[in-house]
Amino acid sequence: MDYKKLTVAAALMGASMIYAQDAEIATWAGFRKAATSFTFDDNAPNHVTHAAPAFDEYGYKATFNLVVNWNPDWSGFQKMADNGHEIASHSNTHGQNMSGEEASSKKSIENHITQKYGIVTVAYPNCNVPNVSALQQNYIAGRICGNGQEVMGKDGPSDWFRVPAHMTGSTGSFNNTNAFTGAMQQAIQKGGWVMFLTHGFSNAGNNGNANYSPTDLNAIKGALKWANQNDKDIWVAPMGFVAMYIKERKASKIEPQDGGAANTMTFELKHNIADNVSKYDYPLSIKVKTDWSNVEVTQDGAALESKVDGGYVYFDAVPNAGKIVVKNAAAAPESSSSSEPESSSSETSSSSAGCVNPFDPGCQTGVAAAIPNNFLISVYRSSDNYIVVGGAQGQSITVFNSLGHKLRSTRGLGAEQKVYTGAKGMYIVKVGGRTWKVKL
Ligand SMILES: [Zn+2]
Repeated sequence: MDYKKLTVAAALMGASMIYAQDAEIATWAGFRKAATSFTFDDNAPNHVTHAAPAFDEYGYKATFNLVVNWNPDWSGFQKMADNGHEIASHSNTHGQNMSGEEASSKKSIENHITQKYGIVTVAYPNCNVPNVSALQQNYIAGRICGNGQEVMGKDGPSDWFRVPAHMTGSTGSFNNTNAFTGAMQQAIQKGGWVMFLTHGFSNAGNNGNANYSPTDLNAIKGALKWANQNDKDIWVAPMGFVAMYIKERKASKIEPQDGGAANTMTFELKHNIADNVSKYDYPLSIKVKTDWSNVEVTQDGAALESKVDGGYVYFDAVPNAGKIVVKNAAAAPESSSSSEPESSSSETSSSSAGCVNPFDPGCQTGVAAAIPNNFLISVYRSSDNYIVVGGAQGQSITVFNSLGHKLRSTRGLGAEQKVYTGAKGMYIVKVGGRTWKVKL
């Protein structure tokens, strides 16, 4: 390597300007091709006991629309909200039309349920749209039933208070896994968003008041399994989160900032959506062009999970939440000579932690508490005998047994996630292009 050239390049570089065309906001979270949302009406007890666990198995989240006067299991739904599911309104009384209950049902639910983004969506009883101006003052989106346009485009519905959804269960054709996966495939082809509307189940737990059009829970479980197998293409998320994402993405701009320290790119992610319902602070997925192989990303001084791949750094950031700084982590500190061979540390760590061939016996055996590499990924066994992966946001994670049979594929969420548990033995975990061995 010619370090003289590196020195000259570093001296010329200084603070690196970021150009707007070098940065892109993903159409869907994680740069996936499409989004899908599962919504559940009428607060059936089996939404708590059966539906939520089916989603949690894959780290997926859904929307649960509660009828205030139908005695929801408030503590059960609060636990689901704490776990990332969306709790939303389905009126107070489930009358023919919920006009007059737009604000009061939201308030009543807020008295019981605390969740990060508030009560921001509603599903209308009997699919009858109530008073639109009252809706606009209290919600960012409202769901109707099917209208023939359930597979929406990338910008969502033509009317945010008429978001359509495929009705599932015995009254229609959406009662087997293929119906769900077919609709998700249509969404992927369109680059859009498809929603489902489910009441109770034909074969699981207590439906309570959710007796209409019972759905085979196994059809939904099969749909979630398929989504997980296609996780690089389809984003499974609650209706409210997808609605926030679309509105923020359409309104947000990346604004480059001048100046700053050497070997950094600084910019802001901003929108000016103004309503009294939401701050529109759901994270957006961003990629920024870079030649750096090892970066640190911060927003308002706090570290963000990131990865470098194919000449871009990928991360999720919150609009209107402060300066985003992408820093060349491999660069020598400003005070020391820039002629130091800057790549030595990252090369050493990647060659010890990663392997090209996952079945090469020379691959590192990762049983230590955490094995950091230059992407700050950690792979380890938890005390309750799970394989845990951390810091792998957006990357593919695949677990193989010692014979090389694939056991599970999923996608990194960024935070630490349990990816697999099973019989005693050695397992091979591929995260992006790197491989670890973990003993359970
Ligand atoms: Zn209902």
